[in-house]
Amino acid sequence: MIDLRSDTVTKPCPEMIKAMAAAVVGDDVFGEDPTVNELEAFAAQYFGKEAALFCVSGTQTNQIAINVHVKPGGEVICHEESHVYKYEGGGIARNSGASVRLLRGDRGRITAAEIEKYINPIHDVHFPISQLVSIEDTANRGGGAIYDFEEILKIKAVCQANNLPLHLDGARLMNALAVNGIDTHTYCAPFDSISICLSKGLGAPVGSLLLGSADFIMKARRVRKVFGGGMRQAGFIAAAGLFALKYNVDRLIHDHSHAKLLEIGLKKCAWVADIVPVETNIVIIQLTEMERRDQLILELAKNGIKVIAFGPGLIRMVTHLQITKEDIEMVCLKALSIN
Ligand SMILES: *Cc1c(COP(=O)(O)O)cnc(C)c1O
Repeated sequence: MIDLRSDTVTKPCPEMIKAMAAAVVGDDVFGEDPTVNELEAFAAQYFGKEAALFCVSGTQTNQIAINVHVKPGGEVICHEESHVYKYEGGGIARNSGASVRLLRGDRGRITAAEIEKYINPIHDVHFPISQLVSIEDTANRGGGAIYDFEEILKIKAVCQANNLPLHLDGARLMNALAVNGIDTHTYCAPFDSISICLSKGLGAPVGSLLLGSADFIMKARRVRKVFGGGMRQAGFIAAAGLFALKYNVDRLIHDHSHAKLLEIGLKKCAWVADIVPVETNIVIIQLTEMERRDQLILELAKNGIKVIAFGPGLIRMVTHLQITKEDIEMVCLKALSIN
């Protein structure tokens, strides 16, 4: 099976497993796991932040960040299809008692001008108090779209002028950086907190990182415990995260060229109406016949290709480190054979 459902499906390579097996571990809730400590120190330096926190998932890092930044009754400003809102089980309301202001944006991205328009007047008691701006780069629902860094700087300026922290859901940040070529520290500087997935394009089996100031991470560590995320001998999975950050970043460009090849190949298929312009490793396909979606997914599966439904009339394919160029050629060939 060629599994293009998500970049989360990858399994550790033999070298990664070796690194995991060799990890020196301890009780991380006591702060005594040397490998977790090493990963957190490495990540802080890598992304140019004071501190890092190793967590179970991207949902957990996002939800912890929101919980630290926002008080009950406050409001988070984000895109209407952002992961923090759409795919985290209502966690903003459930975990933090906060409201959301959803912006329409463009391909999952929001602008400084739009944000500014929806910051609530603080002295009017009718409105929830705006307390956080959260953006996603790359934007999953936008087909892996990348932010223009100039826009991020404008968003930061609006946040600063209004005393609002800025959070980055950077589940696929490394995919964005592989394309925009911006220096990692420069890119990360405007954000008060950043969430990074180790278990997507980077290929670790589990794990995410939360980054921020030392004070922010101290508070986040407390919230992680409350959310049930205090892990014990977590060094075994932290070792996979370290391996991922050290060895699986440079290869992301291959996933991107594979996604571009898919875009070109699939456009020739009769059942494909359009494809969201590919910028990174996500390919969103708009079908000619909306109601044929589930049947098409079955037909592709019969041809050895796993894909995922992505809304009415939409299918998503994601390239990752276990997909070869030969796989892509096979997918294009098989896809063309479906009428
Ligand atoms: C995958 C993803 C996350 C985190 O998902 P988990 O499955 O909880 O790790 C967060 N944000 C975006 C944009 C994602 O694609």
